[in-house]
Amino acid sequence: MKINKKVIFTVLVSISAFCVNGQDTRFNQKNPDKPEVTEYMDPEIKVITPGAIPSDAIVLFDGKNLDQWESSKDGGAAKWKLEDGAMTVLGGSGGISTKKHFADCQLHIEWRSPIESDEKKGQGKGNSGVFLQGIYEVQVLNSYNNRTYRNGQAGSIYKQSPPLVNVTSKMGDWNVYDIIYTAPKFTVNGGIESPPYVTVMHNGVLVQNHTMIQGVTNYIGQPTNPVHGKAPIHLQDHGNAVSFRNVWIREL
Ligand code: MG
Repeated sequence: MKINKKVIFTVLVSISAFCVNGQDTRFNQKNPDKPEVTEYMDPEIKVITPGAIPSDAIVLFDGKNLDQWESSKDGGAAKWKLEDGAMTVLGGSGGISTKKHFADCQLHIEWRSPIESDEKKGQGKGNSGVFLQGIYEVQVLNSYNNRTYRNGQAGSIYKQSPPLVNVTSKMGDWNVYDIIYTAPKFTVNGGIESPPYVTVMHNGVLVQNHTMIQGVTNYIGQPTNPVHGKAPIHLQDHGNAVSFRNVWIREL
């Protein structure tokens, strides 16, 4: 309820920025009876070129090198394996993080579960994760014929929100995540002005629909809400040789 009031207040403040003497200056006020009264031109919408990678995207991994990444452990070089246009978790080397920091974004990332024996089960099979701002995990898991808790399978916001459906590719095949993320906003006193939200398409299918992220997931216990600014995208080393390819991001 608190949040809704704040959202309404923010919208009102934003609208008032365009108002002079109660009139919205973006619109043509000279002809209030014409269609133009609710149309505005400026600033012109930025033109970009679509394609496999939109022209305004930052390429984070194109299969050639790990230059955009560093070790999350010590900030040194990312130690994951680079082969066949993919980067693969080197178990025990730690996760990797983008050198550049991000907030609101559209992230495209493809991942593949390794071929693993039937002895590996649940969270122990093809586990990794895409951490938005380094702390909010969109789970990566081999969820093809591999049951685990609902809010821990592929496409979940880990330990918070289960995916709407399970569209995970079988072991050895590639999955695609397209993630739309809105970063949280904090008050000067460290409270939450607006929580983070995420929409996730998994293999082209909606699995998270503008889901509110409750905070940083703790393995045991409730989510917490540390104040933070822009932060890296982090990929998890959970000991499974999960691969990633074609990673790009658009800042929003
Ligand atoms: Mg994980």
